[in-house]
Amino acid sequence: MTRTQLQAARDGTITSAMERIAHRENCDPEFVRDQVADGQAVIPANVHHDALDPMIIGREFSTKVNANIGNSETTSDLEEELEKLHTAVHHGADTVMDLGTGSDLDRIREANVAHSPVPIGTVPLYEAVKRAGSPEDLTTDVLLEVIEKQAEQGIDYMTIHAGILLEHLALTEDRKTGIVSRGGSIMAKWMEAHGEQNPLFQVYDEICEIFAEHDVTFSLGDSLRPGCIADACDDAQYAELDTLGELTRIGWDHGVQVMVEGPGHVPMDRIAENVERQQEVCDGAPFYVLGPLVTDIAPGYDHITSAIGAAMAAQEGAAMLCYVTPKEHLGLPEKQDVRDGLAAYRIAAHAGDVANGMPGARDWDDALSEARYAFDWTEQFELALDPERARSFHDQTLPGDNYKEARFCSMCGVEFCSMRIDQDAREASDDGELKELKRETDLESSSAAEVNRPPVGTHDTSAVSPVADLDGVDLEREYPKADD
Ligand code: SF4
Repeated sequence: MTRTQLQAARDGTITSAMERIAHRENCDPEFVRDQVADGQAVIPANVHHDALDPMIIGREFSTKVNANIGNSETTSDLEEELEKLHTAVHHGADTVMDLGTGSDLDRIREANVAHSPVPIGTVPLYEAVKRAGSPEDLTTDVLLEVIEKQAEQGIDYMTIHAGILLEHLALTEDRKTGIVSRGGSIMAKWMEAHGEQNPLFQVYDEICEIFAEHDVTFSLGDSLRPGCIADACDDAQYAELDTLGELTRIGWDHGVQVMVEGPGHVPMDRIAENVERQQEVCDGAPFYVLGPLVTDIAPGYDHITSAIGAAMAAQEGAAMLCYVTPKEHLGLPEKQDVRDGLAAYRIAAHAGDVANGMPGARDWDDALSEARYAFDWTEQFELALDPERARSFHDQTLPGDNYKEARFCSMCGVEFCSMRIDQDAREASDDGELKELKRETDLESSSAAEVNRPPVGTHDTSAVSPVADLDGVDLEREYPKADD
């Protein structure tokens, strides 16, 4: 009988995953155990996910970032999906959600788990709809079958849209953009067609039992998240949140770990309210937020509109940020979109950690600033969040090696480089001797968590074969088809 990380923590056991996390977060293993035991943090770690390097999600730990990948009916195959997984982990994703809705879902999911050092999340409802043929034809049996199969495949956390209830639907009637969560719209359609309560809510206890058996973590879906800032914080959103609070406690009663998903689109002046309310209603269960986007006017740039909200949410106590790419609202993200989205969100997460005074978080900033003021360009590139981009931007105009020690770059040029002028002025006022430039930050001895130190992709991939190498994955395995 599996003991979940939550059950072990409650029993006073420090698991090997907790030990590893304490090392990565630079904290005491007992603190990790205590936070998990109280439901204030989760360790998504399915017992079947052998390649996992354990990590933790909770407001007392460094802020984490999730990247979504997955195919659609029109694009992508297994190798492309593994390439996206590799890109996401390389650029610092702490977890990856496989939101595929296209073909070959089982093979792709299994390959993702086999290759991923980070937790893999899914929305099992998508596969269930494909199996059933339409939202209206979903049954509780199909839902439970898909959830159980994905749990057996090693999925670490699943979004379960059990919080949207029949009585909530009328509350969305005056919204500008209705129900924008994919899972939420499917559940709403089912409830309207049958006039019955949400089937995931009906079988929630059975789902808890499956999750307990494999140690799958709940990510309770916010089906009624606002799809535009006009709909933010309305009665529908907050009614569902109350249900999510109840579901959190039921999950805990079953010994299952729980985190709760949040919006969406929220103007800046209401972000703090969202985080505070979730923390209160859900008894401190980790808050996992999508963005939020703080304005609706910038399709094509929604990694920026949402990273602003994500940074504010992180400062207020959100534990994990679900990235948004520039393709949001427009199309399926590709490799470059994954990279751009992750950069935006790693910045948001780190900015939140710096603002919250997470131990050592600012050391990275200080080390980079010292390298910058010393015109140590090579070190500056190495410390950059995205070293490849920093180097390539610099080298577009000054590619020669001689420019790696130059006391200027092409932005202001030789004559107007303010840092050079400042150093010259200080030298002149100091009898011709500029005191040695300060280079005192030692990242090796920093108290920062691994995710707050470069390189940004800090996962131990040594146990995982290269993503392009599919050895060890049974690609020929047959799975039941939708009509089986
Ligand atoms: S030229 Fe301007 S941007 Fe470049 S290093 Fe000097 S101050 Fe910084």
